[in-house]
Amino acid sequence: MTAASGRRLTQLDELVSLCARRGYIFPSSEIYGGINGFWDYGPLGVELKNNVKARWWQRVVRERADVVGMDSAIISHPRTWDASGHTEHFSDPMVDCRACKKRFRADQLDDIGPCSAREGTSEHDLTSPRKFNLMLETRVGASEDAAAAAYLRPETCQPIFTGFKRVREAARQKIPFGIAQIGKAFRNEINPRNFTFRSREFEQAEMEFFCHPDEREKWFDHWCNERMRFHQELGLAPDSLRTRPHGRDELAHYCKKAVDIEFRFPFGWQEIEGIHDRGDWDLSRHSEYSGKDLSVSAEDQKQRFMPTVIETSVGIDRLCLALLANAYAVEELDGGDSRTVLHLHASVAPIQVAVLPLSKKLADPAHALESRLRRHFNVFYDDAGNIGRRYRRQDEAGTPFCVTYDFDSVDDQQVTVRERDAMKQERITIDGVADYLREQLECTA
Ligand code: ATP
Repeated sequence: MTAASGRRLTQLDELVSLCARRGYIFPSSEIYGGINGFWDYGPLGVELKNNVKARWWQRVVRERADVVGMDSAIISHPRTWDASGHTEHFSDPMVDCRACKKRFRADQLDDIGPCSAREGTSEHDLTSPRKFNLMLETRVGASEDAAAAAYLRPETCQPIFTGFKRVREAARQKIPFGIAQIGKAFRNEINPRNFTFRSREFEQAEMEFFCHPDEREKWFDHWCNERMRFHQELGLAPDSLRTRPHGRDELAHYCKKAVDIEFRFPFGWQEIEGIHDRGDWDLSRHSEYSGKDLSVSAEDQKQRFMPTVIETSVGIDRLCLALLANAYAVEELDGGDSRTVLHLHASVAPIQVAVLPLSKKLADPAHALESRLRRHFNVFYDDAGNIGRRYRRQDEAGTPFCVTYDFDSVDDQQVTVRERDAMKQERITIDGVADYLREQLECTA
Protein backbone atom coordinates (compact mmCIF):
# COMPACT_ATOMS: atom_id res chain seq x y z
CA MET A 1 0.00 0.00 0.00
CA THR A 2 1.17 3.50 -0.72
CA ALA A 3 0.08 6.81 0.72
CA ALA A 4 -2.02 8.60 -1.88
CA SER A 5 -2.47 11.94 -0.16
CA GLY A 6 -1.92 13.47 3.23
CA ARG A 7 -3.59 16.05 5.44
CA ARG A 8 -1.45 18.04 7.86
CA LEU A 9 -2.50 19.07 11.35
CA THR A 10 -5.02 21.89 11.36
CA GLN A 11 -6.58 21.56 14.81
CA LEU A 12 -4.46 21.17 17.93
CA ASP A 13 -7.22 19.00 19.49
CA GLU A 14 -6.40 16.08 17.18
CA LEU A 15 -2.80 16.07 18.38
CA VAL A 16 -3.80 16.51 22.03
CA SER A 17 -6.00 13.43 21.85
CA LEU A 18 -3.36 11.34 20.03
CA CYS A 19 -0.80 12.38 22.67
CA ALA A 20 -3.06 11.31 25.53
CA ARG A 21 -4.19 8.08 23.85
CA ARG A 22 -0.67 6.99 22.92
CA GLY A 23 0.96 8.13 26.16
CA TYR A 24 3.03 10.91 24.70
CA ILE A 25 1.78 13.75 26.90
CA PHE A 26 -1.24 13.97 29.21
CA PRO A 27 -2.50 16.27 31.99
CA SER A 28 -0.58 16.03 35.24
CA SER A 29 -2.64 14.61 38.15
CA GLU A 30 -5.23 13.60 35.54
CA ILE A 31 -7.27 11.43 37.93
CA TYR A 32 -7.91 14.57 40.04
CA GLY A 33 -9.03 16.55 37.00
CA GLY A 34 -5.55 17.85 36.08
CA ILE A 35 -3.79 21.00 37.23
CA ASN A 36 -3.74 23.88 34.78
CA GLY A 37 -0.36 24.45 33.14
CA PHE A 38 1.28 21.16 34.21
CA TRP A 39 1.81 18.14 31.95
CA ASP A 40 3.23 14.64 32.28
CA TYR A 41 5.18 12.81 29.58
CA GLY A 42 4.40 9.11 29.17
CA PRO A 43 6.61 6.33 27.76
CA LEU A 44 6.73 7.74 24.22
CA GLY A 45 6.89 11.39 25.32
CA VAL A 46 9.84 10.91 27.63
CA GLU A 47 11.81 9.15 24.86
CA LEU A 48 11.06 11.98 22.42
CA LYS A 49 12.06 14.60 24.98
CA ASN A 50 15.25 12.76 25.96
CA ASN A 51 16.22 12.41 22.30
CA VAL A 52 15.67 16.13 21.67
CA LYS A 53 17.74 17.05 24.74
CA ALA A 54 20.52 14.63 23.78
CA ARG A 55 20.61 16.07 20.28
CA TRP A 56 20.83 19.63 21.63
CA TRP A 57 23.60 18.67 24.05
CA GLN A 58 25.49 16.92 21.26
CA ARG A 59 25.34 19.93 18.91
CA VAL A 60 25.80 22.72 21.44
CA VAL A 61 28.24 21.16 23.96
CA ARG A 62 29.92 17.94 22.82
CA GLU A 63 30.77 18.94 19.27
CA ARG A 64 32.36 22.24 20.34
CA ALA A 65 35.54 22.98 22.24
CA ASP A 66 34.26 26.43 23.21
CA VAL A 67 31.09 25.46 25.11
CA VAL A 68 30.96 23.59 28.44
CA GLY A 69 27.97 22.29 30.37
CA MET A 70 26.61 22.61 33.89
CA ASP A 71 23.59 21.51 35.90
CA SER A 72 22.52 23.93 38.61
CA ALA A 73 20.01 23.85 41.46
CA ILE A 74 16.45 24.95 40.72
CA ILE A 75 16.41 27.21 43.79
CA SER A 76 18.98 30.03 43.96
CA HIS A 77 19.85 32.54 46.65
CA PRO A 78 16.94 35.06 46.57
CA ARG A 79 19.38 37.93 45.90
CA THR A 80 19.96 36.36 42.47
CA TRP A 81 16.51 37.50 41.41
CA ASP A 82 16.96 41.02 42.82
CA ALA A 83 20.17 41.36 40.81
CA SER A 84 18.68 39.91 37.61
CA GLY A 85 15.74 42.31 37.79
CA HIS A 86 13.13 39.53 38.09
CA THR A 87 11.82 40.64 41.50
CA GLU A 88 11.07 44.07 40.07
CA HIS A 89 10.34 43.47 36.39
CA PHE A 90 9.34 39.85 35.71
CA SER A 91 5.63 40.48 35.42
CA ASP A 92 2.85 40.42 32.87
CA PRO A 93 -0.02 42.91 32.78
CA MET A 94 -3.11 41.19 34.24
CA VAL A 95 -6.79 42.11 34.05
CA ASP A 96 -9.78 40.54 35.85
CA CYS A 97 -13.31 40.20 34.54
CA ARG A 98 -15.58 41.58 37.26
CA ALA A 99 -18.48 39.46 35.94
CA CYS A 100 -17.03 35.96 35.43
CA LYS A 101 -13.98 36.45 37.72
CA LYS A 102 -11.58 35.06 35.14
CA ARG A 103 -8.05 36.48 34.76
CA PHE A 104 -6.38 37.34 31.47
CA ARG A 105 -3.15 38.78 30.15
CA ALA A 106 -3.92 42.35 29.13
CA ASP A 107 -1.70 41.92 26.04
CA GLN A 108 -3.51 38.74 24.89
CA LEU A 109 -7.17 39.71 24.83
CA ASP A 110 -7.86 38.75 21.18
CA ASP A 111 -9.22 35.25 21.79
CA ILE A 112 -10.46 35.19 25.37
CA GLY A 113 -13.90 33.94 24.34
CA PRO A 114 -17.32 34.93 25.67
CA CYS A 115 -17.99 35.94 29.25
CA SER A 116 -19.66 33.00 31.02
CA ALA A 117 -21.52 35.32 33.42
CA ARG A 118 -23.16 37.39 30.69
CA GLU A 119 -25.06 35.08 28.44
CA GLY A 120 -25.57 36.16 24.86
CA THR A 121 -22.80 38.74 25.00
CA SER A 122 -19.06 38.41 24.57
CA GLU A 123 -18.39 41.55 26.56
CA HIS A 124 -16.23 41.10 29.62
CA ASP A 125 -16.21 43.75 32.34
CA LEU A 126 -12.45 44.16 32.67
CA THR A 127 -10.48 45.92 35.39
CA SER A 128 -7.54 48.10 34.38
CA PRO A 129 -4.26 46.19 33.99
CA ARG A 130 -1.94 45.63 36.93
CA LYS A 131 1.42 43.93 37.22
CA PHE A 132 1.49 40.25 38.13
CA ASN A 133 4.91 38.76 39.02
CA LEU A 134 5.35 35.39 37.33
CA MET A 135 7.87 33.84 39.73
CA LEU A 136 6.63 30.87 41.74
CA GLU A 137 7.43 31.22 45.41
CA THR A 138 8.31 28.47 47.83
CA ARG A 139 9.74 28.23 51.36
CA VAL A 140 13.08 26.80 52.32
CA GLY A 141 13.68 25.27 55.77
CA ALA A 142 11.39 25.21 58.77
CA SER A 143 11.54 28.90 59.66
CA GLU A 144 8.34 30.89 59.15
CA ASP A 145 9.96 34.30 58.68
CA ALA A 146 10.37 36.10 55.39
CA ALA A 147 14.05 35.16 55.08
CA ALA A 148 12.98 31.61 54.22
CA ALA A 149 11.04 32.65 51.08
CA ALA A 150 12.66 31.58 47.82
CA TYR A 151 11.71 31.26 44.15
CA LEU A 152 11.73 28.38 41.71
CA ARG A 153 13.90 29.65 38.85
CA PRO A 154 11.89 31.31 36.05
CA GLU A 155 14.78 30.72 33.61
CA THR A 156 17.81 28.44 33.72
CA CYS A 157 20.40 31.07 32.77
CA GLN A 158 20.84 33.00 36.02
CA PRO A 159 22.80 30.21 37.79
CA ILE A 160 25.07 30.20 34.72
CA PHE A 161 25.88 33.86 35.43
CA THR A 162 26.35 33.36 39.17
CA GLY A 163 28.55 30.33 38.46
CA PHE A 164 30.42 32.04 35.61
CA LYS A 165 33.74 32.65 37.41
CA ARG A 166 33.89 29.19 38.96
CA VAL A 167 33.05 27.37 35.72
CA ARG A 168 35.42 29.48 33.59
CA GLU A 169 38.33 28.88 35.94
CA ALA A 170 37.57 25.19 36.49
CA ALA A 171 37.18 24.51 32.76
CA ARG A 172 40.23 26.73 31.94
CA GLN A 173 38.18 28.56 29.33
CA LYS A 174 39.04 31.94 27.83
CA ILE A 175 36.68 34.46 26.28
CA PRO A 176 34.99 33.75 23.87
CA PHE A 177 33.32 30.63 25.28
CA GLY A 178 29.89 29.44 26.36
CA ILE A 179 28.16 27.66 29.25
CA ALA A 180 25.12 25.49 28.52
CA GLN A 181 22.44 23.98 30.70
CA ILE A 182 19.19 22.04 30.29
CA GLY A 183 16.69 22.11 33.11
CA LYS A 184 13.30 22.95 34.54
CA ALA A 185 11.97 26.49 34.74
CA PHE A 186 8.76 27.67 36.40
CA ARG A 187 6.50 30.60 35.59
CA ASN A 188 3.16 31.31 37.18
CA GLU A 189 1.63 32.09 33.77
CA ILE A 190 -1.70 33.95 34.01
CA ASN A 191 -3.26 31.90 31.19
CA PRO A 192 -1.51 28.61 30.42
CA ARG A 193 -2.81 27.55 27.00
CA ASN A 194 -2.30 25.80 23.69
CA PHE A 195 -1.42 22.44 25.25
CA THR A 196 2.22 22.46 26.43
CA PHE A 197 3.04 25.65 24.51
CA ARG A 198 2.49 27.87 27.54
CA SER A 199 2.89 25.86 30.72
CA ARG A 200 3.75 26.76 34.30
CA GLU A 201 6.50 24.16 34.54
CA PHE A 202 8.67 23.58 31.48
CA GLU A 203 12.18 22.73 30.40
CA GLN A 204 14.66 25.11 28.83
CA ALA A 205 17.93 24.44 27.02
CA GLU A 206 19.99 27.60 27.32
CA MET A 207 23.50 28.54 26.26
CA GLU A 208 25.19 31.75 27.37
CA PHE A 209 28.14 32.71 25.15
CA PHE A 210 30.59 35.19 26.70
CA CYS A 211 32.50 37.34 24.21
CA HIS A 212 34.29 40.66 23.85
CA PRO A 213 31.78 43.50 23.20
CA ASP A 214 33.54 44.21 19.87
CA GLU A 215 32.61 40.71 18.65
CA ARG A 216 28.96 40.72 19.65
CA GLU A 217 27.59 41.03 16.07
CA LYS A 218 29.72 38.19 14.78
CA TRP A 219 28.67 35.79 17.54
CA PHE A 220 25.02 36.85 17.39
CA ASP A 221 24.90 35.96 13.68
CA HIS A 222 26.85 32.75 14.27
CA TRP A 223 24.37 31.50 16.87
CA CYS A 224 21.30 32.54 14.83
CA ASN A 225 22.59 30.41 11.94
CA GLU A 226 23.57 27.49 14.18
CA ARG A 227 20.23 27.37 15.90
CA MET A 228 18.21 27.62 12.70
CA ARG A 229 20.27 24.78 11.25
CA PHE A 230 19.53 22.68 14.34
CA HIS A 231 15.76 23.02 13.94
CA GLN A 232 15.98 22.10 10.27
CA GLU A 233 18.13 19.08 11.09
CA LEU A 234 15.42 17.83 13.44
CA GLY A 235 13.08 17.83 10.47
CA LEU A 236 11.01 20.99 11.05
CA ALA A 237 9.79 22.00 7.58
CA PRO A 238 11.69 25.06 6.24
CA ASP A 239 8.40 26.75 5.25
CA SER A 240 7.15 26.39 8.84
CA LEU A 241 10.23 28.08 10.33
CA ARG A 242 11.18 31.74 10.27
CA THR A 243 13.23 34.26 12.21
CA ARG A 244 11.67 37.43 13.56
CA PRO A 245 13.81 40.27 14.87
CA HIS A 246 12.31 42.14 17.83
CA GLY A 247 11.35 45.76 17.43
CA ARG A 248 12.86 48.25 19.90
CA ASP A 249 9.61 48.44 21.88
CA GLU A 250 9.54 44.63 22.39
CA LEU A 251 13.03 44.24 23.86
CA ALA A 252 13.33 43.18 27.51
CA HIS A 253 14.96 45.85 29.70
CA TYR A 254 18.34 44.04 29.70
CA CYS A 255 18.32 43.17 26.01
CA LYS A 256 20.23 44.99 23.26
CA LYS A 257 18.99 42.88 20.34
CA ALA A 258 16.76 39.83 19.96
CA VAL A 259 15.66 37.43 17.25
CA ASP A 260 12.95 34.82 17.75
CA ILE A 261 12.92 31.55 15.84
CA GLU A 262 9.24 30.95 15.17
CA PHE A 263 7.34 27.84 14.09
CA ARG A 264 3.99 27.80 12.33
CA PHE A 265 1.76 26.03 14.89
CA PRO A 266 -1.90 25.27 14.11
CA PHE A 267 -2.63 28.36 16.26
CA GLY A 268 -0.28 30.63 14.28
CA TRP A 269 3.40 31.64 14.12
CA GLN A 270 4.88 31.47 17.61
CA GLU A 271 8.31 31.60 19.25
CA ILE A 272 10.12 28.35 19.98
CA GLU A 273 13.57 29.86 20.64
CA GLY A 274 15.00 33.27 21.44
CA ILE A 275 18.50 34.52 20.60
CA HIS A 276 19.39 37.53 22.71
CA ASP A 277 22.24 39.97 23.06
CA ARG A 278 22.07 40.51 26.84
CA GLY A 279 25.07 42.84 26.85
CA ASP A 280 26.89 42.87 30.19
CA TRP A 281 23.67 43.36 32.17
CA ASP A 282 23.74 40.08 34.10
CA LEU A 283 27.44 39.91 34.96
CA SER A 284 27.52 43.60 35.94
CA ARG A 285 24.48 43.28 38.17
CA HIS A 286 25.71 40.10 39.86
CA SER A 287 29.10 41.78 40.41
CA GLU A 288 27.35 44.73 42.01
CA TYR A 289 24.94 42.70 44.18
CA SER A 290 27.43 40.02 45.31
CA GLY A 291 30.47 42.27 45.64
CA LYS A 292 32.46 39.70 43.56
CA ASP A 293 34.17 41.06 40.45
CA LEU A 294 33.04 39.00 37.45
CA SER A 295 35.03 40.95 34.85
CA VAL A 296 37.84 39.25 32.90
CA SER A 297 41.15 40.45 31.58
CA ALA A 298 41.83 40.52 27.88
CA GLU A 299 44.76 38.35 26.88
CA ASP A 300 46.62 41.07 24.98
CA GLN A 301 45.73 43.99 27.24
CA LYS A 302 46.07 44.81 30.95
CA GLN A 303 42.58 46.25 30.97
CA ARG A 304 39.71 44.26 32.41
CA PHE A 305 36.30 44.17 30.77
CA MET A 306 32.86 42.75 31.39
CA PRO A 307 32.02 40.17 28.70
CA THR A 308 28.98 40.60 26.51
CA VAL A 309 26.53 37.68 26.56
CA ILE A 310 24.86 36.16 23.50
CA GLU A 311 22.12 33.81 24.68
CA THR A 312 20.26 31.03 22.89
CA SER A 313 17.18 29.85 24.76
CA VAL A 314 14.86 27.13 23.52
CA GLY A 315 11.88 25.59 25.32
CA ILE A 316 12.19 21.81 25.06
CA ASP A 317 8.44 21.30 25.53
CA ARG A 318 7.63 23.88 22.84
CA LEU A 319 10.12 22.26 20.51
CA CYS A 320 8.62 18.80 21.15
CA LEU A 321 5.16 20.24 20.44
CA ALA A 322 6.47 21.77 17.19
CA LEU A 323 8.04 18.43 16.20
CA LEU A 324 4.80 16.56 16.88
CA ALA A 325 2.65 19.12 15.03
CA ASN A 326 5.12 19.09 12.12
CA ALA A 327 5.13 15.27 11.99
CA TYR A 328 1.37 14.69 12.21
CA ALA A 329 -0.49 13.61 9.08
CA VAL A 330 -3.67 11.76 8.19
CA GLU A 331 -3.15 9.89 4.92
CA GLU A 332 -5.57 8.20 2.56
CA LEU A 333 -4.28 4.82 1.42
CA ASP A 334 -5.05 2.74 -1.67
CA GLY A 335 -8.24 0.78 -1.12
CA GLY A 336 -10.08 3.53 0.79
CA ASP A 337 -8.22 2.94 4.05
CA SER A 338 -6.49 5.75 5.98
CA ARG A 339 -3.79 6.07 8.58
CA THR A 340 -2.63 8.62 11.15
CA VAL A 341 1.13 8.86 11.07
CA LEU A 342 3.85 10.82 12.84
CA HIS A 343 6.63 11.45 10.31
CA LEU A 344 9.10 12.12 13.12
CA HIS A 345 12.75 12.47 12.24
CA ALA A 346 14.55 9.19 13.01
CA SER A 347 16.94 10.91 15.44
CA VAL A 348 14.10 11.91 17.78
CA ALA A 349 11.54 9.12 17.23
CA PRO A 350 10.79 7.44 20.60
CA ILE A 351 10.95 3.90 19.22
CA GLN A 352 13.32 3.21 16.34
CA VAL A 353 12.33 -0.37 15.56
CA ALA A 354 9.26 -2.51 16.24
CA VAL A 355 9.60 -6.30 16.12
CA LEU A 356 6.38 -7.97 14.98
CA PRO A 357 6.09 -11.77 14.83
CA LEU A 358 3.43 -12.80 12.33
CA SER A 359 2.10 -15.37 14.81
CA LYS A 360 2.46 -15.91 18.54
CA LYS A 361 3.91 -19.31 17.62
CA LEU A 362 7.00 -17.47 16.39
CA ALA A 363 7.61 -15.85 19.79
CA ASP A 364 10.92 -17.59 20.55
CA PRO A 365 12.90 -16.61 17.43
CA ALA A 366 11.20 -13.17 17.36
CA HIS A 367 12.24 -12.50 20.98
CA ALA A 368 15.77 -13.60 20.10
CA LEU A 369 15.80 -11.01 17.30
CA GLU A 370 14.32 -8.39 19.66
CA SER A 371 17.17 -8.97 22.16
CA ARG A 372 19.79 -8.61 19.44
CA LEU A 373 18.27 -5.35 18.21
CA ARG A 374 17.88 -3.93 21.74
CA ARG A 375 21.67 -3.66 21.96
CA HIS A 376 21.53 -0.95 19.28
CA PHE A 377 18.05 0.61 19.26
CA ASN A 378 15.02 1.39 21.33
CA VAL A 379 12.83 -1.59 20.36
CA PHE A 380 9.14 -2.32 20.88
CA TYR A 381 7.76 -5.85 20.63
CA ASP A 382 4.15 -6.28 19.56
CA ASP A 383 2.40 -9.58 18.84
CA ALA A 384 -1.22 -8.46 19.33
CA GLY A 385 -3.76 -8.10 16.50
CA ASN A 386 -3.43 -8.40 12.75
CA ILE A 387 -0.25 -7.15 11.09
CA GLY A 388 -1.99 -4.19 9.38
CA ARG A 389 -3.29 -2.93 12.73
CA ARG A 390 0.14 -3.32 14.26
CA TYR A 391 1.70 -1.26 11.46
CA ARG A 392 -0.94 1.46 12.05
CA ARG A 393 -0.10 1.55 15.76
CA GLN A 394 3.60 2.04 14.98
CA ASP A 395 2.78 4.70 12.36
CA GLU A 396 0.88 6.63 15.02
CA ALA A 397 3.80 6.30 17.46
CA GLY A 398 6.19 7.59 14.77
CA THR A 399 8.33 4.40 14.62
CA PRO A 400 10.53 4.57 11.48
CA PHE A 401 10.95 0.79 10.99
CA CYS A 402 8.96 -2.40 11.63
CA VAL A 403 10.64 -5.79 11.34
CA THR A 404 8.26 -8.66 10.69
CA TYR A 405 9.27 -12.21 11.55
CA ASP A 406 7.16 -14.68 9.54
CA PHE A 407 7.01 -18.43 8.93
CA ASP A 408 9.50 -18.19 6.03
CA SER A 409 12.00 -16.51 8.36
CA VAL A 410 12.57 -19.80 10.17
CA ASP A 411 13.86 -21.39 6.94
CA ASP A 412 15.42 -18.52 4.96
CA GLN A 413 16.71 -16.54 7.98
CA GLN A 414 15.31 -13.34 6.49
CA VAL A 415 12.83 -10.80 7.86
CA THR A 416 10.67 -8.11 6.25
CA VAL A 417 11.68 -4.55 7.05
CA ARG A 418 8.90 -2.02 6.47
CA GLU A 419 9.70 1.69 6.32
CA ARG A 420 7.14 4.08 7.85
CA ASP A 421 6.98 6.96 5.36
CA ALA A 422 6.92 5.25 1.94
CA MET A 423 5.65 1.96 3.49
CA LYS A 424 8.21 0.15 1.33
CA GLN A 425 9.03 -3.43 2.35
CA GLU A 426 12.33 -5.26 1.88
CA ARG A 427 13.58 -8.74 2.78
CA ILE A 428 16.84 -8.56 4.78
CA THR A 429 18.90 -11.35 6.35
CA ILE A 430 18.57 -11.62 10.12
CA ASP A 431 22.35 -11.39 10.53
CA GLY A 432 22.46 -8.16 8.53
CA VAL A 433 19.35 -6.47 9.85
CA ALA A 434 21.02 -4.45 12.67
CA ASP A 435 23.60 -3.00 10.26
CA TYR A 436 20.92 -2.33 7.66
CA LEU A 437 18.73 -0.46 10.17
CA ARG A 438 21.69 1.50 11.56
CA GLU A 439 22.60 2.60 8.06
CA GLN A 440 19.03 3.58 7.21
CA LEU A 441 18.58 5.47 10.49
CA GLU A 442 21.87 7.28 10.02
CA CYS A 443 21.06 8.42 6.49
CA THR A 444 17.90 10.07 7.72
CA ALA A 445 19.56 11.40 10.91
P1 ATP B 1 6.67 34.23 25.58
O1 ATP B 1 6.79 35.59 24.96
O2 ATP B 1 6.05 33.19 24.67
O3 ATP B 1 6.12 34.22 26.97
P2 ATP B 1 9.36 34.59 26.36
O4 ATP B 1 9.84 35.55 25.31
O5 ATP B 1 9.01 35.08 27.71
O6 ATP B 1 8.16 33.71 25.76
P3 ATP B 1 11.88 33.54 26.99
O7 ATP B 1 11.90 34.13 28.34
O8 ATP B 1 12.74 34.14 25.94
O9 ATP B 1 10.39 33.43 26.47
O10 ATP B 1 12.15 31.98 27.14
C1 ATP B 1 12.88 31.25 26.18
C2 ATP B 1 12.11 30.05 25.69
O11 ATP B 1 11.54 29.32 26.79
C3 ATP B 1 10.92 30.39 24.80
O12 ATP B 1 11.33 30.56 23.45
C4 ATP B 1 10.04 29.18 24.96
O13 ATP B 1 10.43 28.15 24.07
C5 ATP B 1 10.31 28.74 26.38
N1 ATP B 1 9.22 29.18 27.25
C6 ATP B 1 9.08 30.38 27.84
N2 ATP B 1 7.95 30.44 28.57
C7 ATP B 1 7.35 29.22 28.44
C8 ATP B 1 6.16 28.63 28.95
N3 ATP B 1 5.36 29.32 29.77
N4 ATP B 1 5.86 27.36 28.61
C9 ATP B 1 6.67 26.65 27.79
N5 ATP B 1 7.82 27.16 27.27
C10 ATP B 1 8.17 28.42 27.59
